[in-house]
Amino acid sequence: MAAFDLVFLGTGAADWPVRPQADVRYDTDGLIRRTCSLLINGKYLIDPAPESWFFAVKVLKLDLSGLKAVILTHSHGDHFSLKALDGFLGEARGKVGFYCHEGTIPSLKLTEKELSRMRLHPLKTGDRVKLGKVTMQALGANHEVSRTRETALHYLFACEGKKFFYGCDGAWFLAQTWSVLRKHELDLAIMEATVGSMRANYRIASHNTLAMVDMLVEAMEECGILRKDSLVVLSHLSRELHRPDEDYGSKIVAYDGMRLEI
Ligand SMILES: [Zn+2]
Ligand SMILES: [Zn+2]
Repeated sequence: MAAFDLVFLGTGAADWPVRPQADVRYDTDGLIRRTCSLLINGKYLIDPAPESWFFAVKVLKLDLSGLKAVILTHSHGDHFSLKALDGFLGEARGKVGFYCHEGTIPSLKLTEKELSRMRLHPLKTGDRVKLGKVTMQALGANHEVSRTRETALHYLFACEGKKFFYGCDGAWFLAQTWSVLRKHELDLAIMEATVGSMRANYRIASHNTLAMVDMLVEAMEECGILRKDSLVVLSHLSRELHRPDEDYGSKIVAYDGMRLEI
């Protein structure tokens, strides 16, 4: 059995419709991207994005009764929806752990309804926690979250000798994050590529272009963070900023419903 079984519940940036029309809500053919969310081993959810519960339960018909934890990258509306969170908590048999940066909690406006079903685990950057057999480390992301005291987070996961990185959202790497990554050899890096091949776009300081991802991947290979046979997956793709004929090289472009085992 694979160490990690990943299901991409959303792969789009915030300019994808967060409430798609009813006729495309069931789409699995890449017609639409829901905003970013990932399910790990059927137990650990990264980001209860607005369409993620509907897609997981109503479209993919996944069994989420074993859900153990919800892990939040940051509070932006394309990654966090109270309605979706309530949906996921309703699927789980028991209480669910909720992991996010310590400064994120006040802006989420959690009610008794959610708090009674969750155990809160505020994180500082660098914190490492155990989720069953999986070790998770929170890493700071270069991503602006205005008007709050939160730091957006990337995450590093390890289980049974396999490791992967999840970096949606955030441009480049913060120095501290790079120092941690340099100590690891990854089997998979899930990189955000919001800005496509555009450059003159305001999102560029908080998100990656494809050229930035290329530079980062080359540096990660040269520094031993990625092997030549490690997988690089692009996610958090903007609707407006990727051309139809975009060249993604050997990288895997994630789509909603994509499964990946490592
Ligand atoms: Zn986002
Ligand atoms: Zn964001």
